[in-house]
Amino acid sequence: MIMEDLHGGDEPEKVVMVRYGELFLKSDPVKYHFIGILLRNIRLALESAGHSCRFESPRGRIFVYGEKPEEIAGIVSQVFGVVSVSVCTRVAPDPDALRDAAVRLAKDHLHAPARFAVRGKRQSKTGMDSQQLGEYVGSAIFDAIPGLSVDLSHPEYELFVEVRDCGGLVYDSRIPAPGGLPWGSQGKVLCLLSSGIDSPVASWLAMKRGCEVSHLHMDGGRWAGGDVRTTAIENLRRLSLWCPGNDVQMIIINAELFYDRMQELRIPPRLRCVLCKRFMFRTADRLCVREGAQAILTGENIGQVASQTLANLAVISDATTTPVLRPLITYDKAETITLARKIGTFMDKQGDLACRAVPRMPATSATREAVRESEEKMGIDGLLDRVLASPQYVTAKNGEITRSG
Ligand code: ATP
Ligand code: MG
Repeated sequence: MIMEDLHGGDEPEKVVMVRYGELFLKSDPVKYHFIGILLRNIRLALESAGHSCRFESPRGRIFVYGEKPEEIAGIVSQVFGVVSVSVCTRVAPDPDALRDAAVRLAKDHLHAPARFAVRGKRQSKTGMDSQQLGEYVGSAIFDAIPGLSVDLSHPEYELFVEVRDCGGLVYDSRIPAPGGLPWGSQGKVLCLLSSGIDSPVASWLAMKRGCEVSHLHMDGGRWAGGDVRTTAIENLRRLSLWCPGNDVQMIIINAELFYDRMQELRIPPRLRCVLCKRFMFRTADRLCVREGAQAILTGENIGQVASQTLANLAVISDATTTPVLRPLITYDKAETITLARKIGTFMDKQGDLACRAVPRMPATSATREAVRESEEKMGIDGLLDRVLASPQYVTAKNGEITRSG
C-alpha cells in the first residue's frame, strides 16, 4: 500500500470493516473456503443494491471500499456470517494521524458532559502498545472537548483506534449483524412453507446457519382460505431479501385431491391433521431427491396445535426417512413473532388463511396403525404420484417475484 494515498484528499478515506464470527473456529482450508463464499455473498448483496465496491480480506476481517459507506455498512450488516460492521476512517497507521482523526470524529459525536473511553488495538508489535495508544488518543480528546470525564468501565461513548497492516482505523460504532454461517455453505434443505408466521422464521433460521433453502407449499385448493397461496408467495418474496442476488425457489403442489379423498372415504376427521402433515412429508421426501435437498425443514413446535404434540410429531416423522429439522421446536409463539417482526416476515394484516379441513376435535395422540389404515384406504402412493405430476414453480429474487406458474 502506498502511504501517500492516505493523505491525498482533504477528506480522510472511509472504509467498512466487516467482522465474521464462527469461521474462526474452522481449520484453515475450511475457513478460506467459507470466507470465499462470504465475500461472494457480500459482493452480490452490494451489487444487487447498485454498489460497486473493492474488497480486501486480510487476516480476520473483510474491508469494503466504495461510495456511500454508511449505506454499504447497512447492507453488509444483513449478510449471514457477518457478526458486526463498522464504518471506519482510514488514516496512516501512526499515533498522530489516529489522534487527529479520533479528535475529529469525537467532536462530531461526543458532547460534554459525558463519560468516554478510547480503546486501542494494534496488530504490529512495534511502537505504542494498545493501552498507550488508547491513553494517547484519549488525552487528546479530553483536551479538545472541555467537560468530559474518562470512564473505562461504563462509558457513554466509546471510540476505537486500531493499527492494522492495512492502515490506521478510527470508529465509534458497531452495527450488529445476524451472525451464523455464510448462505450456501451448508448444502440445501427443503422448507415446508405455509402462509403462517412460523415457517418463514424457520426458513430464515436455516438460511442463517448457511443453508440454501428451497420451499414447498401445499396448496389445498378449495380447502384452503382464499389468501393462503398468495400469502405463502409473499412469505417467499420477503425471505428472498435475505439472500440478495440469489434466486429463492418454491414448488407449489396442488393437494386438493388429497382432502377430497379424505372426505369421500369418510376418513375419521380427527385424523385429518396428522394425515395432512404426513402427506406433506411424503411429498417433501420425493422432492428432496429431485431438488438435491438433504433435509426437510418445518416451523413445527412442541404443543402449538394438536398435530404438534410429541406423540403426533413422532407419527408424522414416521412418514419420511429424510431428516426433519424443526428450528422452532422450543420457541414460544411470542418469541417467534418477535423474530418474525425483526426479519420482516410478520404481516399485520392477515386475510383468509383458514384451513377448511381442520376438524373440531383433532386427535392429540393418533396411532400409527390408525393413520396407516386410513392411508391404505386412500391409496396414498397413487395420490402422491398424481399430485406430484403437475408442480408449479415460483422464484423470488431481491424481493421480487421473477417467475410464477
Ligand atoms: P406456520 O406454522 O408456518 O405458522 P401454520 O400455523 O399455518 O403455519 P401449522 O399447522 O402450525 O401451520 O403447520 C406446521 C408446519 O407445517 C408449518 O410450520 C409448515 O412448516 C408446515 N405447513 C403447514 N401448512 C403448510 C402448507 N400449506 N404448505 C407447506 N407447509 C405447510
Ligand atoms: Mg404453526
